[in-house]
Amino acid sequence: MNIDYSKVGLKTGLEVHQQLDTETKLFCSCKPELFKEEPEVTFLRRLRPTQSELGQIDPAAYFEFQKGVKIRYEANRKTSCLVEMDEEPPHDLDREAVETALTVALMMNAKLVDEIHVMRKTVIDGSNTTGFQRTCVIALNGEMSIEGKKVPIQHVSLEEDAARKMGEKGSTIQYRIDRLGIPLIEVTTAPVIYSPQEAEKTALAIGRILRATRKVKRGLGTIRQDLNISIRDGALIEIKGVQQLELVSEVVEYEVQRQLGLLKVRDDLKKRRVNEENIKDEIIDVTSVFNQTKCKVIKKAVSRKQRVMAIKLPQFAGLLKMELAPNMRLGSEMADIARFWGRVGGIFHTDELPAYGITTKEIDDLKKLVKVEPQDAVVFVADAVENATDSLKAITQRAKKALKGVPEETRAANPDGTTRYMRPRPGAARMYPETDVPPIQLSEEYVKKLRTCLPELPEQKVKRLTKEYGLNTKLVKQILNSEYVDLFEKVAKETKVSPTVIAVALTETMKAIRRDGIEVEKVTDEQLRELFGLVDSGETAKEAISDIIRWLSKHEGATVKEAVESLGLAMISQEKLEKIMDDLMSENKSLIADKKEGAFGPLMGMIMKKVRGRVKAELVGEILKRKLKSFIG
Ligand SMILES: [Zn+2]
Repeated sequence: MNIDYSKVGLKTGLEVHQQLDTETKLFCSCKPELFKEEPEVTFLRRLRPTQSELGQIDPAAYFEFQKGVKIRYEANRKTSCLVEMDEEPPHDLDREAVETALTVALMMNAKLVDEIHVMRKTVIDGSNTTGFQRTCVIALNGEMSIEGKKVPIQHVSLEEDAARKMGEKGSTIQYRIDRLGIPLIEVTTAPVIYSPQEAEKTALAIGRILRATRKVKRGLGTIRQDLNISIRDGALIEIKGVQQLELVSEVVEYEVQRQLGLLKVRDDLKKRRVNEENIKDEIIDVTSVFNQTKCKVIKKAVSRKQRVMAIKLPQFAGLLKMELAPNMRLGSEMADIARFWGRVGGIFHTDELPAYGITTKEIDDLKKLVKVEPQDAVVFVADAVENATDSLKAITQRAKKALKGVPEETRAANPDGTTRYMRPRPGAARMYPETDVPPIQLSEEYVKKLRTCLPELPEQKVKRLTKEYGLNTKLVKQILNSEYVDLFEKVAKETKVSPTVIAVALTETMKAIRRDGIEVEKVTDEQLRELFGLVDSGETAKEAISDIIRWLSKHEGATVKEAVESLGLAMISQEKLEKIMDDLMSENKSLIADKKEGAFGPLMGMIMKKVRGRVKAELVGEILKRKLKSFIG
C-alpha cells in the first residue's frame, strides 16, 4: 500500500531496551543468564497491591487480580537468590552496568544526572516478585543524528529486566525469575519520527551505539523495542516487544494501515447510520441452535455443560472480515479482546461463516433467534456462562469504540510484524523511591575520565572499516548493524580470507539462515573463528561456509572439523580432482569432438556440480583448460 506518511500525520517514538552482558545482575551477584533445565525451586504467590499503590494502575491488570490469578515462580540457584525471590533487600547498583549506561548516554550527548536514584515503578502482572520494577534515570536530553536529522533522546535509563513468562495453566501463570534483575538499558526518543524507514534507521543507529560499548548481550530476546505510534484522527498506540530491529519499519507500516482501516470502518458505520444506542449489551443464549452441531469446538463446550452465547452487532455485516492490515481484521481484534477480558479461546462471527463445521441452516436459525436484519452481524462464544458474558460485554464496548475510530490501547508485536491487542493503555506510571538502594553520586572527575575513553563512535567506525578492509558502504553498514563487528575484525586480522567474504558470511549468509528458522545464535564466536581458519588453510572452501554454519546450529557442542567431515565438505586433492575430470571427459567424448574448445563451459558446469564447495573454482578452470587442450590435440 502506498501511504503518504506526512499526509496522514504519522508520529513515532521509540523505546529501545537492551540487556547488558555484565558479570552479575543489577541488584545481586547472581549470573545474568537463563536456564533451560527443570527448576530447582518453585514458589507460589498472589500479588495483592494495596489501594495506595494502585493509583493509576491500568484497569485490565486489576481486573485480572480480581479473578484470583496465582503466580508460580521457577528458579535455580545459579541464576537467582533471595533478592529475586523478594526475601532479601536489593544490594547496591552494579557498577559495571552503571558505567555502561553512562557510556551510552555520553555517546548520545545526553546530560548526565548528578545523582543516580533508584525508583520503583508499579508492575502488577506478576512479572516482578516485588510488584514493582526498579529503574533509574542516568541521563536526559541527548541527541542523535539520523542522516542529518536530529532526533532528541529524551532519556537513558537503567532498569532491571522482568521475569519471563513460561505459560499459563488455568488461573496460574508461570514465570521464570532467571531473567529478573538482568540489567537493561532503556533509550527513549522523542516522538519525532515521521516514517517507517526513519523509525528503523533510528532503531538501528541506537543499536549500533549500544553494541559499540561491547557490553551488550546478543541473540533473540536481548534487544526489545517498544513503539508509540499515532496518526491524525487515529490514536496513540503503544506496541510492545518488537524483537528484531529489521522489523521496526514493518510494524510501523502495518500500524498505520490498521489505523487507516479502522477510520474507514468508522466512516462506513457513519454512512450506515449506526449510533452507540443501537449497540446493546443484550446477550442471548443460543445453545439450542447447536444441539446437533458438527462444529468440534462448540460440541466440546456443550458436552462440558458450557453455553453458546451471542450478541448482535447492528449494521456490522462485512466490516468484521475487512482486512485492516495484513492478517488484521476487526474480527480478530474482537477475538483478542474476548480472550483477554473473558479468558475464552476465541469467538465466532457471521462474517466468517459458514465454516468450522457450522452449517448454513445453523446460521439461519441463529439469525432468527437473535432477530437480525441482513446488514447485522452476530458474534458468539462457546464457553462457561461467566467467561462468555465477560467477553461479549467487552466486544460490545469494542464495537462502540469502532464508531469513534481507533481506540487507545497497548498492543503486542508478533514475529511477522503484525500486532495483537494486549491490554488497555495504562495511566502514567506511578514512581516512588526505592529506599533500600543508596543513590550514587557522579563526581566530575569520574565523568571526565569516562568521557576521555568513550568507544569509537559508529560514524568513525564506518570510515575506518571502509578504509582498512576495502568493504563497500552497504557491507560496512550491514556488519555494523549485525552483532558480529568485533568478530569480523578479529578474523580479518588473523586470517588471509578476503574481508568481503568474511563480512558477507557474517551478515547476508547469517540472515538467510536465520530466515529459514534456524537458530544461528547457537554457533559461537569461537566456532566461527575456527571455520574461517579452515577456509584460510584451504581445508574447506568459502562456498561451504553456509552449509557448515547450518550444520553447527543444529549440533550444539560439535567442532567445525566434525561439521566438515560429516557434510563431506573437506577439500578434494588435486589428484582426485584430475581423476574426476578425466572420467568426465571420456564420458563426454562426442561433446568434445563436436564443440572443441566450446565444450569448456558445459564441462565446467558438470564438474562444479560434483565438486562445488570442495575445491577452488579457479583451480578447476585452470586444470580443465589444460586437459581439454591436450584432449583435443
Ligand atoms: Zn540474585
